[in-house]
Amino acid sequence: MFWERSGLCSVLVFEDAMITITDVTGMQRWADASRARGQRIGLVPTMGYLHAGHVSLVAAARRRADVVVASIFVNPLQFGASEDLERYPRDIGQDTQLLSAAGTDVLFLPDAKEMYPEGFQTTVTVERVTRGLCGAARPTHFRGVTTVVAKLFNMVKAHVAVFGQKDFQQLVAIRRLAVDLNFDIEIVGAPIVREPDGLAMSSRNAYLSPSERQAALCLSRSLDAAAQAVQRGETDGLRILAAARRVIADEALTRLEYATLADPDTLEEVSAVSAPTLLALAVHIGKTRLIDNCVLGSDKLQATSGKHESSRHKALA
Ligand code: AMP
Repeated sequence: MFWERSGLCSVLVFEDAMITITDVTGMQRWADASRARGQRIGLVPTMGYLHAGHVSLVAAARRRADVVVASIFVNPLQFGASEDLERYPRDIGQDTQLLSAAGTDVLFLPDAKEMYPEGFQTTVTVERVTRGLCGAARPTHFRGVTTVVAKLFNMVKAHVAVFGQKDFQQLVAIRRLAVDLNFDIEIVGAPIVREPDGLAMSSRNAYLSPSERQAALCLSRSLDAAAQAVQRGETDGLRILAAARRVIADEALTRLEYATLADPDTLEEVSAVSAPTLLALAVHIGKTRLIDNCVLGSDKLQATSGKHESSRHKALA
């Protein structure tokens, strides 16, 4: 902490206080100065309405970098025409407190005009890995994600960026983006953070009514059912998927968009679980679309709830 004289008054400056930057030039200047000091910059891109999952990404970035930038930008480019851009939950006051308490150095908070000034017409498309899973129902979504992430990489000039495995396909697409376009940045995937009852944390959980919140537990239970099938020695993809789908079908308020087994690196569909295999789900609970996933046959798998922790670990070891 130190006193700084600026014009007529003195300002109390906390050296570890988080600062907020809203313009791209200011962000790039800050990044250049940090790099000139030899600091390693970590980036955590978010859309705000933060929860413990986002905070875990900041902690992961802190472990790998000297300074951490968290961005909040509700990116219009990744929302389809009929999707929830307008009603996406926002609470910048609480987000600021959470990020500051988590040890974030900079909150980067550009608005849509700053991110996409007039005349903007360049996008980044990662091809194959974005076609299936969520890409089938949301054909323009990943182009929006990879475009804004490429822009954030150039704005924040980070050495390392952390993304959640909750959005597994997004993480795979961003790894591909970084390799294919030679971004000099390390991409880190962080484990899914769950509520005590197993529901994967998500900003969109705020949309759920109490009965929908209860119904939403079918996602993690569905993953558990598949993991238990694998534990019993099942390798046939159709039977494993049937076990997962049954749990969703048994829940009244739900509509399954997809339950898919895929190679976790290429995201190509597979018909058997003979190696670590991604099981990814998208389920509509009333008007809310939720996603979840796990990697079957992997010792790195997280349990979806405390209750099933031991069986999941055994199943997936
Ligand atoms: P969002 O604000 O939903 O765009 O998410 C920003 C980042 O937080 C993405 O990298 C997400 O994958 C990650 N994230 C969201 N929910 C979770 C969670 N429950 N656990 C871990 N990471 C998450």
